Amino acid sequence: MSDRAVRISQPGGPEAMRIEAVDVGDPGPGEIRIRHVAVGLNYIDIYHRSGVYPLPMPAGLGMEGAGIVEAVGDGVAHLKVGDRAAYASQPIGAYASARVMPARCVVPLPDFLSFEQGAAMMLKGMTVQYLLRRTLPQAGLQPGDHVLFHAAAGGVGLIACQWAKALGLRLIGTAGSDAKCRLALDHGADVAINYATENVADRVKEITGGQGVKVVYDSVGASTWEGSLASLRPFGLMVSFGNASGVVAPVPLSALSAKGLYLTRPSLFVHLTSQEATREIAGDLFKIVESGAVKIEVEQRYPFDEVQRAHREMEARTTTGSGVLLV
Ligand code: NDP
Repeated sequence: MSDRAVRISQPGGPEAMRIEAVDVGDPGPGEIRIRHVAVGLNYIDIYHRSGVYPLPMPAGLGMEGAGIVEAVGDGVAHLKVGDRAAYASQPIGAYASARVMPARCVVPLPDFLSFEQGAAMMLKGMTVQYLLRRTLPQAGLQPGDHVLFHAAAGGVGLIACQWAKALGLRLIGTAGSDAKCRLALDHGADVAINYATENVADRVKEITGGQGVKVVYDSVGASTWEGSLASLRPFGLMVSFGNASGVVAPVPLSALSAKGLYLTRPSLFVHLTSQEATREIAGDLFKIVESGAVKIEVEQRYPFDEVQRAHREMEARTTTGSGVLLV
């Protein structure tokens, strides 16, 4: 039986995705072949599919998965055939029944995690790790401080709500409906703001006694940008890490001057530069999940053949938390 992979020949809507028969081949030096059990769904896959983040065509899709190591190339020491494994990786192509990929991106999946959890948490959870644990020292955050986190009921968002609480931060979450706001609160957000009906900066000022927050984590982009800057206190840090509502228009530096704000535009893959870095960030994530402080719940499961429906639902904002494709 041949393997299957999602391919696009041009950027486009969900219908641009086709499932094709592929020959996966054998791993070369430093590579492994993994047979997926579950594949993670991420909003970045939509940027790749639609052309917001351009890819050379034709292209595969997907950056997160979990499964069993089926073959190992020369020079790979940390994985062996039969291991349970998971990854979030820059070489795109996780939407597939199996793939060959660099072993340095892949880590053994601990026994306390299911394949579905592995596929649901690696990209989103390692993102939260760097946002809260590696950006936090630069932001001078202390336990008890407020932070503003947009799209708090999404995949990255629900992990962030829980992890921020474990760090003693008071996370003000935003979401697009009252039901999503309740979900963010249930996962540890201190306060939730429905940004479809409420003015975010006004509410943040109320909550923080007029001061604003030290850090805003903004993955929504165009529609939240202004409110995010207005929610920061003087010398606050704006962490712009996504664009679900559209790319932020070019920003004049003067936009930062009134409050002397700092701005960073990070990516997970700037942090995952080596096998050691991946092991360290993934290890920190596994530790907080094992402790019980962060629970990984899979909110949406789709058969592999229903990948187009999965993308339609993500774009329609009807999903919450993490979703996976079952291979
Ligand atoms: P989510 O599950 O959070 O889905 C995106 C959410 O954005 C939606 O559910 C929706 O929540 C909100 N949203 C607000 N406006 C819109 C809009 N106009 N159209 C669609 N959605 C909108 O996705 P992920 O957890 O996969 O990722 C969250 C964000 O983090 C994404 O922007 C992603 O690109 C970014 N990211 C960045 C990384 C980095 O390192 N830079 C790494 C990983 C993710 P609501 O209905 O509540 O508004």
